[in-house]
Amino acid sequence: MYTSDPNRYNNMLYLRCGKSGLKLSAISLGLWHNFGYNDPFDNMRRIVLRAFDLGITYFDLANNYGPPPGAAEENFGRIFKFDLKPYRDQIIVATKAGYTMWEGPYGDWGSKKYLLASLDQSLKRMNLDYVDIFYSHRPDPETPIEETMEALYQAVHSGKALYAGISNYNPEQTKLAYSAAKQMGLKLIVNQVRYNMFARDVENGLFDTLNELGMGAVIYSPLAQGLLTERYLDGIPEDSRVKKSGVFLKESDITPERIEKVKKLSEIAKRRGQTVSQLALSWILRNKVVASVIVGASKVSQIEDNVGCINNLEFSEEELKEIEEILK
Ligand code: NDP
Repeated sequence: MYTSDPNRYNNMLYLRCGKSGLKLSAISLGLWHNFGYNDPFDNMRRIVLRAFDLGITYFDLANNYGPPPGAAEENFGRIFKFDLKPYRDQIIVATKAGYTMWEGPYGDWGSKKYLLASLDQSLKRMNLDYVDIFYSHRPDPETPIEETMEALYQAVHSGKALYAGISNYNPEQTKLAYSAAKQMGLKLIVNQVRYNMFARDVENGLFDTLNELGMGAVIYSPLAQGLLTERYLDGIPEDSRVKKSGVFLKESDITPERIEKVKKLSEIAKRRGQTVSQLALSWILRNKVVASVIVGASKVSQIEDNVGCINNLEFSEEELKEIEEILK
């Protein structure tokens, strides 16, 4: 029987998501990897519960997380049913639809037919009556944006989602989505995008757009899938994402140049009393538009490490310059 840590809210920051009423834990947990059918259930359960005990309130899922697609939601649903149900009003559960989920013309992209059917399936898998945030996982070049927004509107209007968001939309697509949703009386509160020291495109316009619209940014792959940690400094461990999956983070991504940069960054981290992962996360949180940084984890110790970034979020001008030099 799980009982949560009574001190869990003492060491976490909760950041407002854009101009909405919703606050998210500055660090959140993503279930993209390590929550499939082949991963040990006990380990997932320990990761989720430790995250909650450390003040993480936001759990990020999508219909297709696994493998196979749907497995992460099912595993989370089990943990929810047995452990977290009494805390339903203290957690934020998000899911998404937009990538390939089932065969045929109605299991992919951004139609109302797909999004709403997928949300119903997600709720069943997770043993939930509603999700807190429902995202359009990617823009669909063929479906009118009004239709995708209508699906989000209907999800919220029917009570199956409390808030609506988009993911992987560029500045132009974000503006179009925001205004189409607004016309229906729906306020999009968030865009979930990739951002880390090695992938900085969102600094060129997207953050400004979100600020202008009063939307928050939720960040994914903040550690470049593990590259911006100590994980690969001495070769490629057998239990790493590269070895276990090798699809999204490949052996060829672990280049000597990147490892050299990480080594230099860890020198700065040490001086700040941080690990390199903590440095990479604090560096993201210096952007005020960021409402939450979603980390992935294969071990409880990684979550513990990552949450520690909260203890040092300030950067001197000099440190920032030094980091820029290394990333150049
Ligand atoms: P990260 O960049 O945080 O990478 C997570 C991986 O880094 C872990 O699996 C682990 O690798 C390693 N790691 C994490 N912490 C540490 C640590 N302290 N020390 C050493 N290694 C560490 O994020 P993800 O790429 O996993 O993405 C996070 C979440 O973002 C996803 O779960 C998902 O919810 C969301 N996402 C959304 C997308 C979208 O399109 N909207 C796309 C991608 C992700 P290892 O497994 O090797 O131990």
